[in-house]
Amino acid sequence: MNAQVSTPSVVKNAKRLVVKVGSGLVTNAGLGLDHDALTGWAEQIARLRKDGREVVLVSSGAIAEGMQRLGWTQRPHALHELQAAAAVGQMGLVQVYASCFRSHNLLASQILLTHEDLADRKRYLNARSTLRTLLDLGVIPVINENDTVAIDEIRFGDNDTLAALVTNLIEADTLIILTDQRGLYSADPRKDANAAPVTDGVAGDPYLETIAGSTGSAIARGGMLTKVLAAKRAARSGADTVIAWGREPDVLLRLAAGERLGTQLLAQQATVAARKQWLADHLQVRGRITLDAGAVKALLTDGKSLLPVGVSSASGNFERGEVVSCMDEAGREIARGLINYDYADTCRILRTPSSQIEAKLGYIDEPELIHRDNLVLL
Ligand code: GLU
Repeated sequence: MNAQVSTPSVVKNAKRLVVKVGSGLVTNAGLGLDHDALTGWAEQIARLRKDGREVVLVSSGAIAEGMQRLGWTQRPHALHELQAAAAVGQMGLVQVYASCFRSHNLLASQILLTHEDLADRKRYLNARSTLRTLLDLGVIPVINENDTVAIDEIRFGDNDTLAALVTNLIEADTLIILTDQRGLYSADPRKDANAAPVTDGVAGDPYLETIAGSTGSAIARGGMLTKVLAAKRAARSGADTVIAWGREPDVLLRLAAGERLGTQLLAQQATVAARKQWLADHLQVRGRITLDAGAVKALLTDGKSLLPVGVSSASGNFERGEVVSCMDEAGREIARGLINYDYADTCRILRTPSSQIEAKLGYIDEPELIHRDNLVLL
């Protein structure tokens, strides 16, 4: 599909956003951080936060800053040296963000993740709870790849995928990928005079992969293909994606005001259907729990989370973070969701008010057995 229809801004009404800035943007010609640029994005994110939106920032820049701090003028080739530079530079990266956000009376936090962390159900749920708590506290999470143990970004330039996984993780409404190009083009604008900007598209449309592939190698750092694939991944949890030029003045504020900049890739399915499919595709049902009538009503009519007090029995050998079916007393499956406690602990807190979870288990992960964000009604 190649039609250009101008769709309304997907950022305007987005409540929860993931903003990704890549290495090409955050550095001063590859060496050190571009403090003015970082200050500008932080200021815009602070404004969005004060407008009542939740924002998670995924930022690269650790290696460039580490090289500067170590006095290296040439980017090393050895991975272990790049990883060492990232370890040195990550401190500088978060220091800059922390001080920028502090000047807007906001706290920043550092989260280092790998793709594997998010593939593992327990770690996925832990990361999710931490991020949700930080957002509830009004803190700005600043995420980068954990370069000490993973090299996807160093090798493939691929914080785009990480940003999409984070988008899925927190079920953000929109992913904004800021890059050094003004969005996606129908061909490489440096080589083809007929190259036209692609303003609109549907995430997952194979045509996008064809044109993105032609504008750089699949693994080129900052290449468009990883961005198009990230949009496809983000769409799996219902999120739309915008790819825009990071140096556009006030880019985030203008996008949030409804202005159309760069390329907007829509998640085709409605959010709920996408979430349902995502749960269904990725995770196998590992157990069953039976809900009393009050809990069924809380889920179906009141849109609430599932608390242990409303659950009367459990079966299956599930772990924390796995999918379980929620049955009513007549044995009908009414919902599916990611459970916060494993089978043994779930059994110990059946019919238990959340205030007593800690007394029964000796710890508390969450007051809910299944948070409503992780629950799909059937
Ligand atoms: N995660 C790394 C960073 O933030 C990788 C970027 C790169 O390869 O330049 O610096």
